[in-house]
Amino acid sequence: MKFEDLGLSPETLRAVTEKGYVTPTPIQEKAIPIIMMARDIVGLAQTGTGKTAGFTLPMIDALAGGRARMRMPRSLVLEPTRELAAQVAENFKDYGKYHKLSMALLVGGESMGDQTKLLDKGVDVLIATPGRLLDLFARGSILLNDIKILVIDEADRMLDMGFIPDIEKIVSLIPPNRQTLLFSATMPPEIKRLTDKFLTNPKEVSVAAAATTATNVEQHLVHLHPKDKKKALGHLIKTENPKNAFIFLNRKRDIGDVASFLQKQGYDAAPLHGDLVQSKRTETLQGFREGKIKYLVCSDVAARGLDISGVSHVFNYDVPMSPDDYVHRIGRTGRAGQSGRAWMFATKMDEKFLANVERTIKKAVPVVELDFGATPVKDDSEGKISFKREGAPKRHEPHKRAERPAPTPKAESKPSSHAGREANKEEEIVDGPGFGDDIPSFLR
Ligand code: AMP
Repeated sequence: MKFEDLGLSPETLRAVTEKGYVTPTPIQEKAIPIIMMARDIVGLAQTGTGKTAGFTLPMIDALAGGRARMRMPRSLVLEPTRELAAQVAENFKDYGKYHKLSMALLVGGESMGDQTKLLDKGVDVLIATPGRLLDLFARGSILLNDIKILVIDEADRMLDMGFIPDIEKIVSLIPPNRQTLLFSATMPPEIKRLTDKFLTNPKEVSVAAAATTATNVEQHLVHLHPKDKKKALGHLIKTENPKNAFIFLNRKRDIGDVASFLQKQGYDAAPLHGDLVQSKRTETLQGFREGKIKYLVCSDVAARGLDISGVSHVFNYDVPMSPDDYVHRIGRTGRAGQSGRAWMFATKMDEKFLANVERTIKKAVPVVELDFGATPVKDDSEGKISFKREGAPKRHEPHKRAERPAPTPKAESKPSSHAGREANKEEEIVDGPGFGDDIPSFLR
């Protein structure tokens, strides 16, 4: 199928051609015609599938005719993080360059005054994080009565971040004669409930199961003692010589420490997490995009969905507590047909989380033994993972790899990603729930 077959306007097609896209991605092929028919849609797709253009392109054409009134936006796109909101805004700018649509970005951490001024002029497309939108609504700076198209993007991430009550509140403020588009990588019961409540006879479209990992990412696993993590990272950076990398950590409080460790070794590294001020986050991301920062030491919240091409490596400094996060993390590399390498460090404590990851991706991550003078880790528990694999098949230097069978999927015990997150709640709360992007209203 070609873009020309989707019924988009010549102006939009021209913008798409200038972006260099030749054929629509599967989600675009499926979603665009349905959105053009003004139907509600539930899109099961994660970032990297081209879903942003999937809803942005038909929205631009649908909004092209009308005019926005003061403080009454005509469409609303809800995003869980400021970075994603900014990325979607960039998409609207690129694809809408031959239309005269006005757009506003409402995110926390930016001046309310400037955002209010834009709203006063009237906007066709409003892209917002839920907390800031509700703040401005409470101040009377915005009215939601004229919204004709509502997009709830990354719905499962909204759920993880505790935004569902805010989303429900926002949707209840929008008149029901609207078109609603909901996108989510997974469909936990809470999101299903939301779609049943707020969407009208939606058409469901899905692309590639949520829990599949990109085939052009070579994955590796290193079993180690927790105190060896920095040493192992330093060793891998030397031997792998990444062009650049995302280094994911589970806890915000460890991020600064790992970033300064790398800086002390002379690397261009910087931390990125939700507690940093927005100006710093924007500057850091820009630095990473431009290649001034090589190593981004970050949390899942800050890095989720970021579309930065040409990232050679992803390091999972910690095994993610939710298996879906593993898929998202390693999906930051191997984008747009390029190859990528992913590494994960696992300690004995991570056994359960590692099993969840491997059950989700339906394969075992190949184990590699690194030659960096690691602290020996004894296999002292029956049936548990042996960290020191005797007789492991040797691979090319400097790494030695041992393969092991994928864990057998057990239907009855297979943890849903959400259950996995619930189990980890305590850990998240110890760390602070990671609401650096926006504080859900029930916590304010
Ligand atoms: P998304 O899933 O929306 O984050 O998009 C992932 C990446 O795919 C972005 O860099 C888009 O610019 C790119 N992209 C979107 N649609 C297409 C297409 N039809 N052909 C090639 N690249 C695309």
